[in-house]
Order: sequence, then structure tokens, then C-alpha cells
Amino acid sequence: MSTTTLLHSGAVIDGTGSAPQLNTSVLIEGEKIVAVGTEADALAQSHKDVQKIDVSGLTVMPGLIDAHTHVTLGEPASNDELFHHREPATAALIAAHNVKKILQAGVTSILDVDGIFNIGPALRDAINAGITEGPSMKSGTFALMTAVGGTAGRMIPDHGTAGYAEVVHNRDEMVRVVRRQIKDGADIIKIHVTGVIPARSGEIQVWTRDELKTVCDTAHDLGIPVTAHCRGDQATLDAVLAGVDIIWHASFLGDRALEAIIDKKTAVGPVFTFLANLAEYGAKVGATASVQSTFAGELEHTGARLRQAYDAGVPLLCGSESGFSITPYGNWHAREMEVFVQHMGLTPLQAISCATYTNAHAIQQFGQVGIIAPGAQADILVLDGHPEKDVAVLGNKSSFRHLFKKGRAITLAEVPERSLLRGERIEPWSAQLLKWDLIHQK
Ligand SMILES: [Zn+2]
Repeated sequence: MSTTTLLHSGAVIDGTGSAPQLNTSVLIEGEKIVAVGTEADALAQSHKDVQKIDVSGLTVMPGLIDAHTHVTLGEPASNDELFHHREPATAALIAAHNVKKILQAGVTSILDVDGIFNIGPALRDAINAGITEGPSMKSGTFALMTAVGGTAGRMIPDHGTAGYAEVVHNRDEMVRVVRRQIKDGADIIKIHVTGVIPARSGEIQVWTRDELKTVCDTAHDLGIPVTAHCRGDQATLDAVLAGVDIIWHASFLGDRALEAIIDKKTAVGPVFTFLANLAEYGAKVGATASVQSTFAGELEHTGARLRQAYDAGVPLLCGSESGFSITPYGNWHAREMEVFVQHMGLTPLQAISCATYTNAHAIQQFGQVGIIAPGAQADILVLDGHPEKDVAVLGNKSSFRHLFKKGRAITLAEVPERSLLRGERIEPWSAQLLKWDLIHQK
């Protein structure tokens, strides 16, 4: 028997960007929202067993959607750690632990864009089956690369898989690997269109438009969308024209790529959180200056260009890059909204809309999730605060009062701290070289 719950008389932010509707009730039946407003109160009266929760003075809004996570990486502080200090069984267990933190942060759905050991699809299924608690999940698997890609330089191998990467050499391999990833449960195919190599500054494009089209056509034929990591104008242009469905970063856009994005209304997620955290808070956690300077300037320039895309009606996705030491799970899922307000001039309600209503595009559930409306999935966050004035309150878990995922009340509680496993982190012998002079100098 499904339960019926009335959230009585809250301030409802529906996710579409509309202003909060005061003294408004929401009726949940089973996994769905069945009524909003006076109709919710009226319907509740006709039911026998309604659990009534008084939410007056509180804000009722859609559960957050995080459109860009990496739940299987385990918060590495470096590529060395990620590529060489992970093994499948442990990584899966740790990921099952970490997804609980994401849910506790008010995030009821995620798109996990890529990860290690093909754990993502298994974790998604485990969450759906009730084996572990976490947000609803759409999952990618390994990110496709031509021997160069991502930010791991020479750690990307010439063949096979390493870390989050899977290397594809030619069109035949692209077709074969895309089909295999879909067989293995991928909800989305990820391509690293650009990447770093040690001898060059910035990211270079390592795919041709034709190769990108091969991946897109193969995935689309099987009903699976394609997403691409792109830094640079040409890379973004080629990805959009090849048929990529979601572009991440889209940094250093020129006019041609911007026009193409606007023309095709290709969804874009800047994923600023990692950069913003590094730039603003990196010094607090000992981030090296060289890493900080890698991304210097990207925020301002990209923010201004993507604001133009947003104004032209391009879906702007909100993702946190959670999974690294700069973006640990459960901490920064609302941070991207703050950056949208600070660096792109969005209103808090517009930013909230990106992280709920618009983000439903990323999980292919537009109109069904990320909105408070009759017929929508009952993913609901109730908090004591006014995110329409300051979105930062959504990062403060102590303001949360109730959380529902598919109509089921989630018990709000801090996920207990755990110990580190041996070998999980890189353990250097020393922080610097022990030179003879260091000991014998006066
Ligand atoms: Zn990412």
C-alpha cells in the first residue's frame, strides 16, 4: 500500500524559476506528487490515512539534481592516486558509502558522467534495488580518449583502460567500445575531446569532428546520448556539430562555437565548482600554485560567454564535479548555483531552476523530475531558509528539515566518518628531498 503525505502550507519553489508560492501544500502519493495548492488540501481531506507534515515557515522545493559527478573516484588528491591507488572491489564499496553523503546533501538525482572499473552502472542498479541508499543515478562508464585526453597527461595509456579512461584508436574501435559500454549498462557515453600533454600548455584537441560523429551516431542508434569534455573553441564547435548532446566546460569559447551551441540548443554545463573551489579556497587545503594557475581566467571568460548562451535559451546545467579532494562528496553540490549567481549574474531562482528543472535534461527526465507539479516524481527537499534570496543556504545541510526521494522519506543524518584504508592515499616518504646540505647547513 502506498503512503500519502501532505506537506502543509509551505513556501513552494517549483523549480521553473517562478517566485515562491506562499502557504501552499503539496500532496504526495506513492512515488508521485499528485496535487499542489488548495487542491492538495482538498484531496488530503478525502483520504483516510494521510500523514500531515506542517511545513509552515519552511521552503519546499525539488530535490537537487547534480548533473556532473564522479561517484567512483573516491576523492583523490592527484591523478597518480586515482590511476594507481584504486582496485575494483574496494572502490565499489567506498562508492556505495559515498553516495549516501550525496543524498544527505539534498541531491535526489545525479548524472555520474564517468568513473572507474565500470562500477557506476552496478551502483545505479544497487541503489534502485535498495541494496545501498543514494540518489537516483544515471551513469556513464569509462571516458573515451584517443591516447591523449583529460587532465592526466602521460598517465593515459596507449591501449585499454586506466583510471576513468578507455583508449580508442580508430573508428572501428570507437564503434565496438561504444556498443560494449552500452551493453555494460552505460546511460551515457562520455568523450574527452581535449586533454593535456606535459609539453604543451592548456588542453589540445585530440579528436576530429568525423571521429566524434562516429561515436555520436553509434550511441544515438542505440538510443544513448553522448556527452563531451571540451576546452577550447574548435573542440566545442566540432563536438556540437558532430551531434554531442551535452558539452562540459565549454571554456574559451569563440563566436563560432557559441553560435553553434545557440543554434542547436545543445545543453552546456560549465562545471565551475572545481575551479571556484581551487581559486577561492585552494590555499586553505594546500593546493599548489601551479594547479591553481591552470584554471586561472577560465571562470570569468567562460562565465560571460555562457551567459549569452543562457540568455538565448540554451539549457545551462549545474554540476559539481564531486569526487575529487577539492570537491568531496556531500559538500559542494550547491556551490555551482552560487557561482552562477556570482559570476554569471543569474538570480538565485534562475540558478535553482538550473539545478532542478533544467538539470532533468541531463538525466533524460525533463518535466518528470526537478519540478514541484502534479504528476512529477516526488523528489522534495524541505528546508528552513530562503534560497530564493541566497542559494548558499542549500549548501548548509543543518537547514534541511525533510527529504523525500520518489515519495519516500529519507532520514536526515550525518554519514559517519570512516577510516582510510591502507594504500588508499599516496604515502610519500617525505615532503621534500633529504639533502646533505639540509642537515649540515649552519
Ligand atoms: Zn568531471
